[in-house]
Amino acid sequence: MSSEPEYLWMDGDIKPRAEAMLPVSSAAVFYATNVFEGLRAYWNDDKEELYCFRLQAHFDRLRESMKMMRFTIRQSDADIYDAVREVLKANDAHEDVHMHLIACVLGSGQNATEPSFLYINPHYRGRMTAPDKGLACCISNWTRTSDNAIPIRLKCGANYQNARLALLQAQADGYDSPIFLNQQGKVAEGTGASLFIVRKGQLITAPITSDILESITRTSLIEEVLPKLMELDVVERTIDRTELYVADEAFFCGSGFEITPITSIDRFPVGDGNIGPITQRLSDTYMALVRGEDSRYPEWRTPTYNPVAA
Ligand code: PMP
Repeated sequence: MSSEPEYLWMDGDIKPRAEAMLPVSSAAVFYATNVFEGLRAYWNDDKEELYCFRLQAHFDRLRESMKMMRFTIRQSDADIYDAVREVLKANDAHEDVHMHLIACVLGSGQNATEPSFLYINPHYRGRMTAPDKGLACCISNWTRTSDNAIPIRLKCGANYQNARLALLQAQADGYDSPIFLNQQGKVAEGTGASLFIVRKGQLITAPITSDILESITRTSLIEEVLPKLMELDVVERTIDRTELYVADEAFFCGSGFEITPITSIDRFPVGDGNIGPITQRLSDTYMALVRGEDSRYPEWRTPTYNPVAA
């Protein structure tokens, strides 16, 4: 794996990383007035292609976040697709890439909405765990922010201070990663991932009204991958904290987390403390799909080097 990709796309220009700057007095820098998407592109050796996973769904969610924040960008979806391709090509990316698409406000003041600015920051980012390892999680004593405070449905940078507090606390206490409960004391999600458990053969995940992000990976699993490719149904319902302690399997999912097994929660082993069979099978199925080794759902993989019409 190389070091960081050298170039970013900054509202129309390709800029070397060292020159990619935002003004210090902008709302973007001072208040973190931004919304963003994090997604991965996967390199397929046979096809010699770099596939962006569920690009359109990320564009749609970016626009929903902008709507809630009351700012706009000039670019159409076709323009953003061109920009994604441009920055990946500028970096001559022929390996897996993670990217942030960030829309922010360069004006100053809490109520600044203009001018808005879009940039794309690619990273080389590995898997969250070694293939045979799961995460040791804890229930955070920080509460997930609620829909009437800073809604998690809105994917803005400022939300991730809630995640930072919980993550640093978890790590200070010797865990890998925290799990948030919401203000109702029910299970929400991880810092940057949705959470699923398996209990008595049933997959369960919290509903989108539990103060979670409307995760694109979660939707892909619930609507397509689990029922159609694996013949497993998922129940979306409120989850109690103690259900986590008696779960047979647990995993995080997300663009960055992919399928990441959780092998203990508050030091209780999940199942027998090893990666569960459904989690392993799902992870294999998901990785084959995103990379295009499994050719089903071609509409989920947007090519970089041989573009499709937007
Ligand atoms: N929850 C939060 C808070 C996140 O930041 C993410 C990552 N974007 C997820 C869940 C997973 O969402 P997605 O599958 O869309 O990446």
